[in-house]
Amino acid sequence: MRLTVIGTGYVGAVHAACMADIGHEVLGVDIDAERIAALTSGRPPFYEPGLSEMLVKAVTTGRLSFSTSLAEAASFADTHFICVGTPQHPTTGAADLSHVEAAVNGLAPYLHDSGYERILVVGKSTVPVGTADRLAGRLHAAAPRAELAWNPEFLREGCAVQDTLRPERLVVGARSEQAEARLREIYAPLLDGGTPFIGTDPATAELVKLASNSFLATKISFINAMAEICDVTGADVLTLAEAMGQDSRIGPRFLAPGLGFGGSCLPKDIRAFTARAEELGRGESVAFLRQVDEINTRQRSRTVDLARQLVGGSFADRNIAVLGAAFKPRSDDVRDSPALAVADAVRRRGAQVRVHDPEAVDNARAAYPALQFALDVAKACEQADVVLHLTEWPQYQELDPVALAAVVRTPAMVDARNTLDPAAWCSAGWTLRALGRPRLG
Ligand code: NAD
Repeated sequence: MRLTVIGTGYVGAVHAACMADIGHEVLGVDIDAERIAALTSGRPPFYEPGLSEMLVKAVTTGRLSFSTSLAEAASFADTHFICVGTPQHPTTGAADLSHVEAAVNGLAPYLHDSGYERILVVGKSTVPVGTADRLAGRLHAAAPRAELAWNPEFLREGCAVQDTLRPERLVVGARSEQAEARLREIYAPLLDGGTPFIGTDPATAELVKLASNSFLATKISFINAMAEICDVTGADVLTLAEAMGQDSRIGPRFLAPGLGFGGSCLPKDIRAFTARAEELGRGESVAFLRQVDEINTRQRSRTVDLARQLVGGSFADRNIAVLGAAFKPRSDDVRDSPALAVADAVRRRGAQVRVHDPEAVDNARAAYPALQFALDVAKACEQADVVLHLTEWPQYQELDPVALAAVVRTPAMVDARNTLDPAAWCSAGWTLRALGRPRLG
């Protein structure tokens, strides 16, 4: 089948490459000409495991091409996926829908003039509940043969390719059987592989995404709230989380205490959901999400406090090494990165901060030009008074605590992700601290 993907960021570029990989002919469209030029030559504009190889293959075979033209998109195919960003509005916290509206409004006149019988526009961006129905009316008025459906995206950066080819579920909100049938046909290879398909109305589809992200954020903040209780009672949050996670009704995933969540989704999605619920007169139904957000943000200042204790009460003239800049491992995305928020807070308090990350240094430098960066861990840790482990890249678990102790000024570590082995680090002479874990060496 032929289809277009409008917006080729983390979601769109992966979706376009994966749709080509399962056999479709795909045109990726973006307003960013530089991004389109990179993708056309098979270069992903960001780091995502497995994407580069898939992109090169799809571009070389001719199944995937790129353009900046919506007119070309309208004549290329009769199905168009919208994957543009929905960032947080800077003052209200609501979702900024201007990119989605620009994409749909920009495409509509060309759809009207295209020769296709039935046109399907499919939103994948995360939007406030009610957006699809509102935009559908406008789209239909401008292009009567066009219909709008919503198919929210659940991929995780760092395993986006795998999540797209083997999703845990596909959710489609559509107002007609034909629209749902077309999406079933597009996703047939995934459905044949056993992926569950949930067909519903657009409002429910939009809500599945918001409710899922709210639930995940709540689970993370719940265990971080427990870490705060552990800190004042001498209990150990890691053992608590392990024991709670054994309960099959609770489960261990997303019950990882530490520095909390960041990135381009969870923080903005819970704020946008809160703003939308208030607009609908149901603010009290999700009022707890404000606390989820507050608990999450508090872990950043608690991590700064832990570091301050380790350097004797003041950051002035202290050297701080930071391990990790990306908001999560296996990604170079630094949007709302908890690691960089902590690094910058420490810098603003007078410390010399040197940050290492295996993939995200370029993005981090662009976002935080006042921070210093190092291309290897030893360089970042040279003469450090404390090392802050803030993003749990697997390679940090492989570090040799004995070798690193010889590089730093004081062997002191905050393990804000709880993935370092306390026994190994403490026996190499390190003072190790973590939120909610008072008994570490
Ligand atoms: P992104 O910022 O990485 O990419 C958005 C892309 O859209 C950019 O390349 C931008 O140039 C392009 N764009 C903006 N306006 C355009 C227009 N009018 N026409 C064509 N292109 C346009 O965003 P993302 O991380 O890929 O997220 C996209 C959406 O998917 C958001 O709603 C996000 O909440 C949601 N989502 C993201 C993830 C994730 O992990 N990143 C996961 C699930 C859902």
